Amino acid sequence: MRAMRLARPNEALRMEEFTGASAGPGEIRVSVSACGVCRTDLHLVDGELPNPKLPIVPGHEIIGRVIALGEGASRFRIGERVGIPWLGWVCGRCEFCRRGEENLCPFARFTGYQIDGGFASEATADERFAFRLPDNYSDEAAAPLMCAGLIGWRALNAAGDAGRLGIFGFGAAAHIVVQVADARQQKVFGFVHPGDEKAKSFARAMGAVWAGNSDAPPPEPLDAAIIFAPVGDLVPAALRAVRPGGTVVCGGIHMSDIPSFPYNILWGERTLRSIANLTRRDAAEFLDFAGKTPLDTRTVRYPLSQANAALSDLRDGRLMGAAVLIP
Ligand SMILES: [Zn+2]
Ligand SMILES: [Zn+2]
Repeated sequence: MRAMRLARPNEALRMEEFTGASAGPGEIRVSVSACGVCRTDLHLVDGELPNPKLPIVPGHEIIGRVIALGEGASRFRIGERVGIPWLGWVCGRCEFCRRGEENLCPFARFTGYQIDGGFASEATADERFAFRLPDNYSDEAAAPLMCAGLIGWRALNAAGDAGRLGIFGFGAAAHIVVQVADARQQKVFGFVHPGDEKAKSFARAMGAVWAGNSDAPPPEPLDAAIIFAPVGDLVPAALRAVRPGGTVVCGGIHMSDIPSFPYNILWGERTLRSIANLTRRDAAEFLDFAGKTPLDTRTVRYPLSQANAALSDLRDGRLMGAAVLIP
């Protein structure tokens, strides 16, 4: 197999060849047909996430077909198409796991972070953390569902019953969330980097009723806002944009420091919260929804060997939609 591997943070990924990898007990081995590129991969490469396994093959939006079953693995058949997301393993015993909050398990292991991921021609996963996919998506179109879609789904649910929803940062997650919100009759207001006209048109094209600069107020107060851009300055901006009783959800795994802000923008029973990772229940619910409500994922395709180019296009804000690597 071939893989783009990170030896040390702040270095480029390097193509390497491996032989002899196989599926262990309870695992499936898949031939990767597409893998999405997520901002978390960028944080990993930039050294912004603590304690990665190194060297590591990044990538946690894996679409592939099962080519081998480890001992005792029986959920899938050889040849079946599966998706493999960020959550790769949990302990099942701790207080979080027992409460149904496996996304917070302190012993959790994540795909492309502690477990080699999908920037590769093959990958291995614990079969309990892989999912069947709805048929109405190509491999390339399904890849962004596995994190941008899933995390977006969790963030949208955390935002509550918001008729008027703000989204700060209009990348891969936002372009899926806006469609889910639209299907739920929620109006989306898209906030982009000031002056980024291309991103504004993209937000409107995907279903936002309004798109504007993140440093300006929305045309009407919002019931909730989700921040996907990893920019701490957006937290006070989002709090100012939501009505009393409204909620601001931080959807990213990493964010620059949040500047201090006056208490009166939190006062009025506004809630500020984050979401972390995903549960298998989120995945099952979201993939079921995506099967019934076709989502138009916009992808930009790169060959596996161009993973570094995909990451720099993401870093520089050049992507409209989601980058997907094709091995
Ligand atoms: Zn646990
Ligand atoms: Zn991700």
